[in-house]
Order: sequence, then C-alpha cells, then structure tokens
Amino acid sequence: MNALVVAVDGPGGSGKSTVSRLLAERIGWAHLDTGAFYRAATLIALEEGIDPHDGLGVLEAISGRRFGQADGVMMLDGRDVSTEIRSEAVTGAVSEVSAHPAVRQAMVALQRAWVQDRAGTVAEGRDIGTVVFPDAHLKVFLTADPVERARRRAGETGADSVLVGEALARRDQIDSTRPTSPLRPADDAVIIDTTGMSIEAVVAEILDHLTPV
Ligand code: C5P
Repeated sequence: MNALVVAVDGPGGSGKSTVSRLLAERIGWAHLDTGAFYRAATLIALEEGIDPHDGLGVLEAISGRRFGQADGVMMLDGRDVSTEIRSEAVTGAVSEVSAHPAVRQAMVALQRAWVQDRAGTVAEGRDIGTVVFPDAHLKVFLTADPVERARRRAGETGADSVLVGEALARRDQIDSTRPTSPLRPADDAVIIDTTGMSIEAVVAEILDHLTPV
C-alpha cells in the first residue's frame, strides 16, 4: 500500500471531523469520512426494512450498491445522501450495523480502494490506525471530556445536550466493546485530549507531529 495516510480516530464529538477536514485542506490532501460509509449502509438497511442486528441481511442489502464520496458529499447509487445519513434514525442504528464483521469487511475494502486513487488522504474514523491503515504515515487519536463532546454535538444540531450525551455514550459503549475493530487508539498513535482546545490548536499540534514526506 503506497498511498499516504494520516489516520484520525476517536469518538463522536472529539473534534475528528472538523480537525480532519481542516488538516486535509492545510496539507492539500484528500479527506475521507469513513463514518459516512457506515451511515450510508445503515440508511440502506432502514430504507429496506432490515433489522440493524441482522448482519447477513444488511450485507445482502448493501452488496452491489454504489458508495461514493467526494468533497464531503456522500453518494449512494448516484444519489446525494449527505443529509439523510445524519438523521436521528441513522445515528441511532449505525453502531449496531457497524458491529457486523462482514459489513466492516465490505466497508474497509471500499475505503482502501478510495485511498489508493489519491496521493495523500486524511482518513477519519474509529479503526483507521488499528485496522484500515495500520501503516499510516501518522496516527492521531482524539479524545475529549464527555460533557464537552455532548455540548459540541448539541451545538451542531441544536438538540438537547443531555440527550445527545446519552446517545453518544451508548454509541461509544457499542463501538468500543465490539469484538471486531473496536474503537481504541493504535499503540503508536499520538493521543490528543481536545477538551478546552480550539480546532486551530489541535490542527497545529498534529502538524507538529507530521514529518515531511
Ligand atoms: O464518525 P461518525 O460518528 O459519523 O460514525 C458513525 C458510526 O459509524 C460510529 O458510531 C461507528 O459505529 C461507525 N464507524 C465505525 N468505524 C469507522 C467509522 C465509523 O465503526 N471507521
């Protein structure tokens, strides 16, 4: 695998998406949001009435569908699903869908192919440094205090921050305890606690760790 990758992993509300986007812009690399792939798979399951716990059912439903991503837009069979994949229904079921090993295998193959087509990518997710790109040029794991994470997420969506906090905690619990590719820092990841830090400061710290290629 020769394409260059900066892996940015962490839980929801850790600043991953904003930081990854800005970092990619700064260094002129592509940005890959792997969570959007799992969200698109979940949207398919919900639209087809498949139980998110039914791994084989979900796998069958997503097989042969066309997943695409460019400039922050998520496409499914040529349809822009960027807004729908952020719905409460998708957010509520995505961790169940993402826990199935066969679904993950399919998504990881798509993500690796996406990166191969580009010279350099900032890839964000939960298992980028541990599983998807274990040879990443730099691995970063972002964390933040749960109350601040909930506040940030609620600020983006206008939802109640206590409810958002509960939903995030539920997702964290499923994502970090699943047997396949659980959310955890890679042994060689730089861990940054973003609590109280500005986006600019987090990006600057990552740039400090980024050696020239
Ligand atoms: O990043 P985002 O919050 O949009 O991710 C949604 C969900 O997708 C996560 O809670 C997790 O269940 C799943 N996910 C994953 N592996 C990734 C990215 C996301 O399991 N690499």
